Amino acid sequence: MKIETERFVEKAKEGLANESQREVLSRLPVLFKGLRDYAMSTLPDARAALDTGAAIRTNAIARMPELLAQFEENITKNGVTVLWAEDYDDAKEIVLKLAKERGVNMITKGKSMLTEEMGLNAELIASGIDTFETDLGEFIVQQAKRTPFHIVGPAVNITTDEIADLFVKVMGVERTMDLNELTMQARDFLRHKFLSAQMGITGVNMAVAETGTIVLVENEGNIRYSTSAPKTHVAVMGIEKVVPTMNDALHMLRLLTRSCTGQAISSYISLINGPKRPDDIDGPEEVFLVIVDGGRSKIYADPEFREVLQCIKCGSCLNSCPVWTKVGGYAYGWVYSGPIGAVLNPLLVGEDRAKDLYFATSLCGTCKSVCPAGIDHPKLLLKHRERRAFGDKTFGGKKPPLTERLIMSIWSWGLKGNGRYRLGSRLFRLAIKPFVSNGKLTRLPEPGRGFTEVRDLPEPPSKTFRDHWRDAVERKTDGEERSTT
Ligand code: SF4
Repeated sequence: MKIETERFVEKAKEGLANESQREVLSRLPVLFKGLRDYAMSTLPDARAALDTGAAIRTNAIARMPELLAQFEENITKNGVTVLWAEDYDDAKEIVLKLAKERGVNMITKGKSMLTEEMGLNAELIASGIDTFETDLGEFIVQQAKRTPFHIVGPAVNITTDEIADLFVKVMGVERTMDLNELTMQARDFLRHKFLSAQMGITGVNMAVAETGTIVLVENEGNIRYSTSAPKTHVAVMGIEKVVPTMNDALHMLRLLTRSCTGQAISSYISLINGPKRPDDIDGPEEVFLVIVDGGRSKIYADPEFREVLQCIKCGSCLNSCPVWTKVGGYAYGWVYSGPIGAVLNPLLVGEDRAKDLYFATSLCGTCKSVCPAGIDHPKLLLKHRERRAFGDKTFGGKKPPLTERLIMSIWSWGLKGNGRYRLGSRLFRLAIKPFVSNGKLTRLPEPGRGFTEVRDLPEPPSKTFRDHWRDAVERKTDGEERSTT
């Protein structure tokens, strides 16, 4: 998937100007959030459940190396072949090799954000293997040659009209605007693919260390189909997906489905322990698990950002974010959008390439309050800004431009003393005077241009708060003196 994180400002403007997208964003996130809040309220103590979820994920990430070793040992005993990939290219090469060795010419795929990160579909298709996303939303996104708009609802922004046209073009079906019929058209089309595919590829929602089990969550049955109809199942997981016990996985499931779609439980939960056994009526003959690092161990090694790996990709923080719900998912320019995208994308694609993302936030903290994995987004967003200010290179950051550094140094010097601060604010008011017209600041030059680009600012009052305070104290003292005399 093409990385366009550096185009955030431009793409955010496009999103804001898109009327149909604005219409979707005015309804859907509110609906998702309402469903999530209601589903959470059905738990005996939602706050305690979220705290437990945070503790489970914190513990799992803290023990990740040890748990991955335990998981590998147990899933191997269950008959799954584990293959490790250091980066996206390694992982794609492994999957491609498995496919070629088996003469695979068709693959059905379940929804997986990691394979989006890797750009796996493009690689498989370029190698002549027909590859079909089978989650309805992902199928629409793939056929429309777009990118996911939302972690959970990748096609929520695409209108019925557009989908109807797309299906006519891709499947040669009769045009319909009936949602049930559209779903049936996709279902019929994909059913043939499931029956012809020699390989099914899925992601992994959770990997249980104590039992060596892969947990997969979905609502459509397409993952179940992809893991049971083709002869070969290849699961692709990031190293952060591991949890210690089945009890931990079950607790996280309660939170995941509630946070994703407002369901107490999703329609399908698959617990995969290995290939088909002799007395099983269906299932794959062989199962491979590709465990991908893809920049995660670098994040793990950084104690200040490690908690990002706790994310279970529920999408809940997007629905409550005042920025995402205005600019939409495409603005973020890569796989992850919203608060988790603003925190995670810079670590995966490079701090400097994604620097606008962690400034596009009000730091209101609603993301943190709904996160079932205990991620403190505002703290991490500020950490990104701090690292940028100091030109930290750990994740590909660069020093800000000289003018920005100069302004910030003067600003910080000015704030450190009472007299300097007062002098500074007086000089500032004098400096902006030429740009005031009719009591308003309508156009500031650089570096303040952004403040007046889309709205006018009121002229700063001639008296500061300190002046008012001093006057009030003087008036009070005068009054007291008069009443005593
Ligand atoms: S950061 Fe938290 S709320 Fe956002 S997607 Fe990840 S787990 Fe869900």
